[in-house]
Amino acid sequence: MYQKSDLRGDSPVSIIGAGIAGAWQALLFAEAGHAVTLYERSDADMTLSTSHWAGGMLAPYCEAETSEPVIGRLGFRSLNLWREHFPKTPFNGSLVVAHARDRADFERFAKLTTGHARLDARGLSDLEPSLEGRFRDALFYADEGHVEPRKVLPELHARIKAAGGTIKFDCDIDAEDLEGIVIDCRGLSARDEQPELRGVKGEMIVIETNEVELSRPVRLIHPRWPLYVIPRGDNKFMLGATSIEAEDTGVSVRSALELLGAAYAVHPAFAEARIVEFGSGLRPAFPDNLPRITVSKNKIAVNGLYRHGFLLAPALAELTLGYVRRGALDNEVMRCV
Ligand SMILES: Cc1cc2nc3c(=O)[nH]c(=O)nc-3n(C[C@H](O)[C@H](O)[C@H](O)COP(=O)(O)OP(=O)(O)OC[C@H]3O[C@@H](n4cnc5c(N)ncnc54)[C@H](O)[C@@H]3O)c2cc1C
Repeated sequence: MYQKSDLRGDSPVSIIGAGIAGAWQALLFAEAGHAVTLYERSDADMTLSTSHWAGGMLAPYCEAETSEPVIGRLGFRSLNLWREHFPKTPFNGSLVVAHARDRADFERFAKLTTGHARLDARGLSDLEPSLEGRFRDALFYADEGHVEPRKVLPELHARIKAAGGTIKFDCDIDAEDLEGIVIDCRGLSARDEQPELRGVKGEMIVIETNEVELSRPVRLIHPRWPLYVIPRGDNKFMLGATSIEAEDTGVSVRSALELLGAAYAVHPAFAEARIVEFGSGLRPAFPDNLPRITVSKNKIAVNGLYRHGFLLAPALAELTLGYVRRGALDNEVMRCV
């Protein structure tokens, strides 16, 4: 039986993995006064992380359509933490639209989610003038936000350093070589110790055009995947994301057609856009697709963030910190082994 005290108190903290999960852990522990070292095998561009490929939507209301209530609970808490720590995060909401043939699915989405107002065509074009005349109505989730992963990860890393933490990039580390409190945030690479983890492929495309302007993510109801267009600034848009039970990192022609088709369905001017990038990442997921904080004798593992890493990472970091500081256990998310 492990001694809880092994992982408690003011000891130095080593965190493995500087993706969204590890970065938030490092930030909250550094701000709480721990000596923090964050180890990352990638360079500062973080191309080896799943987080590099993400949409960055902070959308607990929309995700309620397909998720367990715990995702909402942690997600709402995370929204507050994002607001508190990154007050410039765009919290200008998100939109859900559908074409006539997907009307039934649109109504179903509206029924299964809360936190939205129904906009008519005029209300939609007031919010997003580029969408004038495109849809009969829309659902507006005013309290949702979004971050740009490739900008917010470096921001998080800078904040960790500002709070006194150290980050070691290009450093492939083994937990056995570390002392003090170790927090394992290796994502899918943690399968050596958590073999039930699997990768769920998400494909994305970045396009560029100055013909369309959007201020917030727009989801298009689709019978198979939640497809969306996210404005990235500099006339760029991310189209995401498929969800496929596969662990290769290619982008199939079929997925590309569906993603590009979704953009075209949101606005035909996207047909003239320039394709900037195709890519995909593997979402780390447990069989129940729920996040898990596993406390064992000598380390804490935070994993299984699946399709909600950006949404959940702040709340999971707060839970881990609560355990280390006060022994608090969240029975829905934490397991002691
Ligand atoms: C296309 C796509 C779109 C998505 N959209 C969203 C979205 O809109 N909103 C949302 O909330 N989530 C989204 N997600 C999900 C989100 O990206 C993941 O949940 C999240 O990135 C998982 O983060 P992580 O930190 O657990 O793993 P990772 O980001 O993979 O980080 C793990 C890190 O550990 C490092 N590492 C591994 N082993 C070692 C070692 N031994 N030593 C040092 N470093 C090591 C790796 O290099 C990696 O950087 C999306 C995912 C995809 C693929």
